[in-house]
Order: sequence, then C-alpha cells, then structure tokens
Amino acid sequence: MEHTQLYINGEWCDGASGDRFNVINPASEEVLASVASAEIEDGDRALDAAQAAYSDWAARKPRERSEILRKAWALMTARLEDFARLITLENGKAHTDAMGEATYAAEFFRWFAEEAVRADGLITHAPASGARIIVQQKPAGIAVLVTPWNYPAAMGTRKIAPALAAGCPVIIKPASETPLTMLALMPILEEAGVPKGLVNVLPSRKSGRLVDHMLHDPRVRVISFTGSTDVGRKLLHSAADQVLKPAMELGGNAPLIVFEDADIDKAVQGAMLAKMRNLGEACTAANRFYIHEKVAPAFTSRFTEAMAALTVGNGIDKSVDVGPLVNAATRDKVAAFVDDAVAKGAGVELGGTRPDGIGFFYPPTVLSNVSETSDCVNDEIFGPVAALQTFVDEEDVIERANNTEYGLVAYVFSEDMKRAMRVCERLEYGMVGLNRGLVSDPAAPFGGVKQSGLGREGGHEGMKEFMETQYISAEW
Ligand code: NAD
Repeated sequence: MEHTQLYINGEWCDGASGDRFNVINPASEEVLASVASAEIEDGDRALDAAQAAYSDWAARKPRERSEILRKAWALMTARLEDFARLITLENGKAHTDAMGEATYAAEFFRWFAEEAVRADGLITHAPASGARIIVQQKPAGIAVLVTPWNYPAAMGTRKIAPALAAGCPVIIKPASETPLTMLALMPILEEAGVPKGLVNVLPSRKSGRLVDHMLHDPRVRVISFTGSTDVGRKLLHSAADQVLKPAMELGGNAPLIVFEDADIDKAVQGAMLAKMRNLGEACTAANRFYIHEKVAPAFTSRFTEAMAALTVGNGIDKSVDVGPLVNAATRDKVAAFVDDAVAKGAGVELGGTRPDGIGFFYPPTVLSNVSETSDCVNDEIFGPVAALQTFVDEEDVIERANNTEYGLVAYVFSEDMKRAMRVCERLEYGMVGLNRGLVSDPAAPFGGVKQSGLGREGGHEGMKEFMETQYISAEW
C-alpha cells in the first residue's frame, strides 16, 4: 500500500523541487517513509488537473457519481485491516482505534453515495408577483481540503466523499505527520472509477505557502479545513481575499458532566469512550470532567479502575489498548499539562509520569480536584489525561461548561430526562452526547459553534458545504 509520491491527475510524481520529508513511526521513533513534498508549482499542476476534470464530473448524473462512491466504500471496506495497519504505523493509535477509524472513514463513501441522489430543490409561486421561484443546488467548484494527523483517513473521506457527491474536484493536503494513509486511498478511488484529476493529494512540508497560494487561485471556490483553531483562523484570513466558501472543523474543549442521578456504570463507560477513543487525540475528547459531589467518589474510583486496566504499548500489537502519542511535541505538551495541574493542587489518582525509553508514550492518567485555572482546563489536552472537578449546582455547572471560546461537543449523563434535555439545550455546543460518549456518525451533522468552527460535515448538511444554491425567477 505504500505510496510516497504526490498524486496529481491520476499519476504518481515527485514535487517540483525534488524535496522530501520523513514520516516517523511514533512507537519506534524510526523513519517509516520518505515522502515527496509539494511546492506551489505542484499546487498549480493539481489545479490544472482539477479544472480539466471538473465539467465532465459536474455533468455526470448523480446516480453515476453515487455508484462510484458506493464502490469506493466496498473496496475500502474490503481492505480495512490494511488501512488500520497503516494508520497505526504512521499515527501510533492502537489497532482497535485504527480499525474504528478505517470503518468510519469508509462509511462516508457509503453515506454520501446515498446523499448524492438526494440534493434538494424547490419550485413555487412568488406570493406577490406570481412568477415561479425555482431553487436548485449546483456544485460550488474546486475545493482545497486540509486535514489533521489525528484521523489520517476519516478527516479526508469526510470531505472527499461529499465533495465528489456534490460534483466538485478536490485537492487534499494531508498532515505532514500522516500522509501515507491518504496516498494509499488513491488506488481505491481509481479502481472505483474516479476519473483522473478529480482527486489530487499534495503532502507538503511547506503547508502554509502551498495552501495560501492555492487559496488565491481564482479557480478555487471552497476551503474545507480540519485542524487547530489557530491555523483555521489563518486560513479564514486567506480565504477572505477571494471570498471562498469556508468549512472549518476546529479545536474543542469538551465538558463531560455527570449528575447525581446518572447511571454511574453508563457514565464510566461513556467517559472512557469520550476520553480514550483515539487515546484522547480527538477534537471530541472529553477535556473537563464535572462530577456531582455526591457521586464523585464512586465515579472517580470506578473510572480510575477502568483507566488502570488499559494496556499501553506499540499499537500494532492487537492486544494493546493505548498506543503512543503522535510525536514528541504532543507528548511533552501532555506532560506539561499534568505538571501544571499538579502544581496547582490536583491529586494524581493514576499515571502522571512520563515514561523513559523509545516511543512517544504517555500513560492513562486521572487527576482529581483540578483547579479551574489549570492550563488543561482552558486548552485541549489531546492525550490520555482526564481532569476531574466537582460541582453541586446545575446553574453553576452549565456556566462553567460554557465558559470557553470553544463549542464543539459536550457530554451529559443524567437519568432525569427533563433535566438532561434542559441542560443539553443550554449548552453552547454544536453537538451533545446524552448518556453516550460518542457522537461521531456519518449520518449526523458534525461540527462546532463559537471558535470550534463553521459548517457541518456528514448528515444532510455535509454535501451543502460543497454546493451553491441557485435561484431562478421565471415566467412562462
Ligand atoms: P494543525 O492545525 O496544526 O494542522 C492541520 C493541518 O493544517 C495539517 O495538514 C497541517 O499541515 C496544516 N497546516 C498547518 N499550518 C498551516 C498553514 N499555515 N496553512 C495551511 N495549512 C497548515 O492541527 P493538527 O495538530 O494536525 O490537529 C490537531 C487539531 O485538529 C486539534 O486542535 C483538533 O481539535 C483539531 N481537530 C478538529 C476536528 C474537528 O472536526 N473539529 C477533528 C480533528 C482534529
């Protein structure tokens, strides 16, 4: 499955400068591959290819686009193990997490195969003039897609599938830490029948220059980004010059609230999923735990027990639950969050010590009585560290949960549905997990409010990010 060149117009090629960069296996710290690095000239070639492929693809019948996407789902599904292995090798996550991601990634092809034939429209009478109002959806144009390293497959397919369903060509810039998975997907798309030039992949170690260059090309109409809020903000500035259609899936700082009437087993199970899926390297990861004082002792001991039962090691070993973090910087940041919280008075229930040796490992860690002023309460931890606080009052916990510039996802555990729904509706978040630790679903609109982003991926909304509404006022 190993491809290490750029993928432009259906061909493998080196970049204009011949420059390459290394991809590191986070478990062994060894070089996994040396990958071609795209320059702005390569961006231009990819745009030429995308432009050439555009009109034919946009004119194809939705059913034809749908069937190609459906085939991509079937082909990818037949190779989930291969994808999972590659994801683990370049990202580090454990095999179970990698299989979960590969399955989720493939599902976007199936979901958007189904959505491709369901674009909505409208014809009606204008109330005053009596003219006909005709409303239809058209492909928005060439889309530049920029994705992060934490889900090397799924963050790409969550954009590629709706773009193709809508009739748009794409140029994808995968994260420099994990470009191999996206490159490995290309032969599958070819086999499924995706024409040359429609999907182009440009790994690059000069992401800023390359993406900014493409966003200033008049042929580009959409920028769809998943990554940090800081980079998202920069891309929004770049996108402003050509007034591009932006879709931004940015950072999170998810609160997880356990009320005194929660089913504690369900809460522990949900908390494990919300915290430890992808070893905490997820924008949806529970970052701040608010546990009602009455159930805090029971929750803390059961949750700590569940965290302690996880095995840490090289994710390629299928018995391992928790792999290494993606790189040294991420691991060191997690360690610094823990040291800061402890210095500010947190208790260490589990873990909390950075291991020596090879690989960017950090153990599952549970901190209790974490101060509101700790860095880990105000910033994304992005690692296997749970920061527990307590609360007494519903009003107070809602206020604390909303006290962040982020608004991606929140989790609520309560068996009192009247209270649960009241709290969910008052949380300033794009998504809420109610008695569940997992919200991601290709059939649901994924996305955040406030500085967690703009737009939605998946669901019925996902394709709209790649479509423009046209209204025709007609008389006949
Ligand atoms: P990042 O913002 O550092 O990088 C994301 C992508 O942007 C990478 O491909 C990177 O090479 C590229 N990039 C970096 N600087 C750039 C620039 N100046 N111009 C253009 N491209 C640039 O994020 P990351 O560290 O890869 O991922 C972690 C972040 O992603 C976290 O904040 C996480 O919350 C967020 N994330 C969000 C979602 C979501 O759906 N909301 C999903 C996954 C990850």
